[in-house]
This record gives sequence, structure tokens and C-alpha cells, in this order.
Amino acid sequence: LELIFVPMRMNEGQEPGLLLVLQDVTAIRRLERMRSEFVANVSHELKTPVAAVKGFAETLLAGAVNDPETAHSFLTIIHDESERLNRLIGDILELSKIESRRSPLQFSPIDLHAFVERLVEFMSTEAAKKNIQLEWQAEEGLFVEADEDRLGQILLNLLQNGINYTPDGGSVRVKAELLDGDGSEEDRVRITVSDTGIGIPKKDLPRIFERFYRVDKARSRSSGGTGLGLSIVKHLAELHHGSIRVESTVGVGSHFVLELPLIQP
Ligand code: ADP
Repeated sequence: LELIFVPMRMNEGQEPGLLLVLQDVTAIRRLERMRSEFVANVSHELKTPVAAVKGFAETLLAGAVNDPETAHSFLTIIHDESERLNRLIGDILELSKIESRRSPLQFSPIDLHAFVERLVEFMSTEAAKKNIQLEWQAEEGLFVEADEDRLGQILLNLLQNGINYTPDGGSVRVKAELLDGDGSEEDRVRITVSDTGIGIPKKDLPRIFERFYRVDKARSRSSGGTGLGLSIVKHLAELHHGSIRVESTVGVGSHFVLELPLIQP
């Protein structure tokens, strides 16, 4: 609680007054703490690739550039770390745009059958690189009210994670279905992205939608992750009046379940 004293300017001849305001600042303080933690995390995440770029560039300048093999391998690292920085900055900007509501969503009716088909097609090359089978199944005639790009971002993030965290030769599935088909206003659509991957330990499950939370930092890094994907997914799901949750078993795989309100086209 915070106590604020406000001197009151009174009319001529009256006694001067004092207004006491007692304010509950718990929520404000929590927000401030979250914000400064976020800034600390961002700085830490940015420092790692910058240090790598700087270190390898310096070593090249100090003479390593004369050995073509070393030069090639160091330049590859510099290139990869720059891309990482780029992705990180992109995700941070995206998150801040979403949180500050600076770019309002452009809603329109989306036909999930066509939409899911298009996204799966888009990811097929990525899946093929790891020999991962990408399958999909979507009921016909299911429509949701969504920002097409943003809904795409949600599903692409989930698909990319499915591919990243599934060993070669596994499979990733997308399924879109009607959840509660009684024709009422509250009918919902469920889109599930499942994989036969490494799974997520029980103790980590409640935290994986947090910004920068990663079960295995090295693994996330090597697959090009920023640790921000799922927090962006969660924000976007909420902006669509939907929800996202996860069920997972270590060594068996994960299901990410997105639920959105159904609309009549
Ligand atoms: P990242 O960029 O690290 O993938 P995300 O926010 O997308 O960040 O995911 C957070 C963490 O959740 C990941 O680092 C990973 O540990 C875990 N995770 C996400 N998706 C999956 C999945 N399909 N299978 C196993 N673990 C996952």
C-alpha cells in the first residue's frame, strides 16, 4: 500500500486541508518488476550472439583470415549468430507490438480447411529436411474470425516447434475439429498440433509459455529458437478470444491445443 498526501488549496478564509490517498500498488509494482526482468533477459539474450560475432571477427582480424578453412568456419558462425540476432529482435518487436496493441488485428472469416492445408504445404520442405512426416486433417466448413497473418503465425510457430523438437523420422500432425457442436453461440473449434517428439517434463509444463523459458537452452539454440515463440502464441491466442494449452509426455510427444470461437460464415 502506498500513502499519498495531497495538500488542498482551499477558499479564502477556510482552514487549509490535506487529502490522504491510500492506494493498492501491488499490480503496478508487479508490472514494473516484470518489465525490468524482461529488459534484463533481453539484454542477456542479445549479449550472447553479439559476443560470438565480436570474438570470431576479432580472431579473424588477428590472422585467422589467412587460413581459408578456419576463415570459412568462423564466418559461418558469424553469419548464423547474426541471423539469430535478427530473429531475436524480430520476436522482441513482435511481442512489444502485440502487448502495446499498436497494430490492431484485422479480423476476417477464415476457412480452416483451406488455411490448414496451405500452412502444412508451406512447412513441408522444412519437415522433409528431417524426414518428418507432416499430416493434417480438418473438418470442412469450419470458420473462425481471425487475423489471417496472426493465426498463421500461431500455427507456424507450433508446427516449427513440432519439427524442431522431434527427432528425424518422426511425425507432426495438425487436426482441426468442431468441439461442441450443439449449434449454440459458444461453439468452439479445436486445432491440435501433435508431434512424436522429445516431449516436455511435467515440471516445465506450467512455464513454457513464459518469455524466454526453455526446457533445454542448448537444444533451443541449436534449432534456432529464441524462447519467445510460445509467449507470442499465447498472446495471439488470447487476442483471438481463444486459449492455448499443452499436454506432453517425455519421450512420447506433445499436443498443443488451440481453441477458438466458431463463427457462421
Ligand atoms: P524456442 O524458441 O526455444 O523453441 P518457444 O517459446 O517456442 O521457444 O518454446 C519454449 C520451450 O518449450 C522450448 O525451448 C522447448 O524447450 C519447449 N517446447 C516447445 N515446443 C515443444 C515441442 N513441440 N516439443 C518439446 N518441447 C517443446
